[in-house]
Formats: sequence, C-alpha cells, structure tokens
Amino acid sequence: MTELERCIDFIVRLADRAAKTKEPSRYGVAHLNADLPRVWSRNYLFADRDLAAVTADELVTETDRILGAANLPLDDYDLAAHATEAFGLPAGVENDANAAALAEWRLGAGRGLSNLLVLTLGTGVGGGIVLDDHLYRGWAEIGHVVVQVNGPPCPGSCHGHGHLEALASGTAADAVARELYGPEANAHVLVERARAGDALAVERLAEIGGFLGAAIGSLANVFDPELVVVGGGFGEAAGELVLGPAQEAARREALAPADSALRVVPAELGAGAGLVGAALVAFEALDGTR
Ligand SMILES: [Zn+2]
Repeated sequence: MTELERCIDFIVRLADRAAKTKEPSRYGVAHLNADLPRVWSRNYLFADRDLAAVTADELVTETDRILGAANLPLDDYDLAAHATEAFGLPAGVENDANAAALAEWRLGAGRGLSNLLVLTLGTGVGGGIVLDDHLYRGWAEIGHVVVQVNGPPCPGSCHGHGHLEALASGTAADAVARELYGPEANAHVLVERARAGDALAVERLAEIGGFLGAAIGSLANVFDPELVVVGGGFGEAAGELVLGPAQEAARREALAPADSALRVVPAELGAGAGLVGAALVAFEALDGTR
C-alpha cells in the first residue's frame, strides 16, 4: 500500500465509523466537541483504533502544543495531550494549511522537492513553507502578507488592510462576483462565466491572480522555492484562470533565476490536501516521528 493509499484508507475508515455512530465516541468529532463546543465546526478531528489527528484553522503549533490561534480560544493549550487523554491514543495536532502543505510535499505536486511553498485559496488564504526538506511547523500566515497598501480590510479578526486574504481568497472572488452579477452570485459563478468566455470575468480573475502573484514573487525573493503549489477550493476551481496570471506576476517581481524559472502549479490533491495531511500528521504521532 502506498503512503497516499494508507492515508485514504485511514480517512475512509474514519468517515465510515463516524457515519455509523451517533453516540459521542472515541471514533469521531463528537467526543471532543462536548469539551470544546465552539472549536470544531470547520475543522478536522479524527480518531481511529490506533491514532488520532487534529487540524484546525489558524493554529500555531510547536511539538503539538498550540501557541496561539487567531480565531479560536486555544492560546497556550496542549491540544495533543488533551486528545491523547480523551481518545487514549497517540494524537497529532497541526494547522490546516500546514497539513495541506505536508500532503502536497510528501504525496502531491511537490514530491521529491526540498524547497516549496503551498498556498490554499478558500474562505481565507492559508500557506505552508517547506525549506531544506523540512516543513516549517510554526507561524506561517501567508494569507496576511500585504499586497496592496491601504487596500480593503482583511476579513475575520485580522485588523490589517490589503492582505492577500482580502484580495485573492474565495471570499474575495465572491465579492467580485456580487459586484458584477448581483447579490446571488459567488466565486463559482465568476469562474463559470470566465470559462464561458465572459471577458470581464476573465479579467477580474486575472486581477486576483495578479495579487496572488505579487505575494508569490515577494515570497520567492525570501524563500527561493523550487515550486509554488496552489490549492484550496477556490484555487482548484479557478485553475489556470488565476494561476497563469499569478505566475506571470510572480516572475515580474522575482529575482533571477526565479524571474524566468519560477513555476506556479495546481495542487495535485486538490481541496482534499488538508485531509490527507491530517492523516500524515496522525501517522507521525503513531510512529513518533514528529
Ligand atoms: Zn490579514
């Protein structure tokens, strides 16, 4: 069984158990939900006979201890220990974007590379950084780099302006769609119109790609990645409509040799990268390799 097959097998088994049990149990989200009722609505939490894994939005972790979380009441909280106790199993904890980056690096578009960036465009913008064959496990809020000084306010609890998340997320694309096509439209409609040949939709998605590329170009000048992988629900849906302009903009800002060689490619694991990454985190906890 390949590592990816092992991950998928793990996820399928958990989904199967979660579907079969309505009682709070050691096999599903319900158990920890009772303790942390506001935490888990958008996040992954798995446990199986052998192990458990947790990934969540905007967590900052260090050896499984949560140092801080922008939108969750979990500052300085040892969630791995809590999960280990609750499940009676080895448990791993990781930021969801870091988990996606881990999956794309180990099993997806970044296989075999030593230096890469992974960006996930969804409700927000997440990111992970692999440097010298090592996933950076700390604070890597790539969605909050500034790409437009005095730009639109950042959504959520961030008080900044013109951040990547405010300009290149699915939420930002929703806003563009509503502006062009009315209050019922969303990012999905924007992408659909662009694929049907609507020049304005193509142009506005390219603009989003330009913001993304500005961030990527700046990051390339700091981290010198061999590859930039873009996933997340919106990233996957928009594909080349955003990634093409992003690569062009990134090369415009990047120093040589990235100015001609830097590649921006779609995630191979798609929007499921975070899920596969959570399984990898769980295996790390089981194997003691974290
Ligand atoms: Zn921000």
